[in-house]
Amino acid sequence: MQLLDGKATSEAIRQELMKAVQKRRENGQKIPHLAAVIVGNDGGSLTYVGAKVRACQEIGFDSTLIQLPEELSEEALLQKVEELNNNPQIDGFIVQLPLPKHMDEKKVTLAIDPKKDVDGFHPLNLGNMVLDLPGFLPATPAGMLELFKRYNIETSGKHCVVIGRSHIVGSPMSIMMGRNASPGNCTVTLTHSRTKNLKEITLQADIIITAIGKPGFLTADMVKEGTVVMDVGITRVADATRKSGYKLYGDVDFENVAPKCSYITPVPGGVGPMTIVSLMMNTLKAMELK
Ligand code: NAD
Repeated sequence: MQLLDGKATSEAIRQELMKAVQKRRENGQKIPHLAAVIVGNDGGSLTYVGAKVRACQEIGFDSTLIQLPEELSEEALLQKVEELNNNPQIDGFIVQLPLPKHMDEKKVTLAIDPKKDVDGFHPLNLGNMVLDLPGFLPATPAGMLELFKRYNIETSGKHCVVIGRSHIVGSPMSIMMGRNASPGNCTVTLTHSRTKNLKEITLQADIIITAIGKPGFLTADMVKEGTVVMDVGITRVADATRKSGYKLYGDVDFENVAPKCSYITPVPGGVGPMTIVSLMMNTLKAMELK
């Protein structure tokens, strides 16, 4: 079994990005600038956004964190999005989800200029992905593709089972794994909460990607020997023995599944750090495309 080390891989990518930024600085060119908008005080969201902004600073990108109050109106948020769309200094921006209940996430996502949509959630970018046209790939699936690439894992002709059909991870990942591309060219089965006999399906998989948010859901009896497993799930479970007060769990019963795998991502330190570098790669691309 080999660990798919997202922390080390993302660190290598960060070094590459750092060099690219340094070169731009030496040549007097513009430095990529990412803005992140967060509405409210949700602990998890603040942690994720903080990590994204910090990562930008570490590699020398410009970054702006825009924290807005929970009670902000949807109209005011849309105005902020419009401002960012029109600000030539900002190359790309994200609006951290979930948004407070009184806001329509779809409306906000649609308001983002697709050329600055470095999360890759806008329908135009998702459509471009389906049609194999240039655009921004959603950050988490793109990060997983990068892991397949950097570990030279053959995907062509393999059976890939994706568990979870969210618009940001499961569904786009199932499309990307089935595309005529490398990584890609898999035979894909997309499974979800209504899937019957899931274990029968996962036992046929060469590659399993879990994105459901249920700790330890994928157990050893659901996995055949030699499978590649990528675990997207991140769930905080209260743990009084830790300073933070919680421990992070993936969707995979790692201890028992890992010995059967050819490759597996840990949680934390697997897919999570790759998502952050994808976002930065998309921001650099957004700036270069301008
Ligand atoms: P979601 O929470 O929007 O939806 C969950 C999905 O799981 C649904 O499609 C549902 O059909 C499926 N599901 C639920 N129970 C199931 C079952 N018993 N069998 C099969 N499928 C089932 O999905 P999401 O936003 O993709 O988030 C999933 C997990 O991934 C969460 O833990 C989230 O925190 C994590 N996540 C991690 C990253 C990262 O960078 N590592 C990025 C995004 C999301």
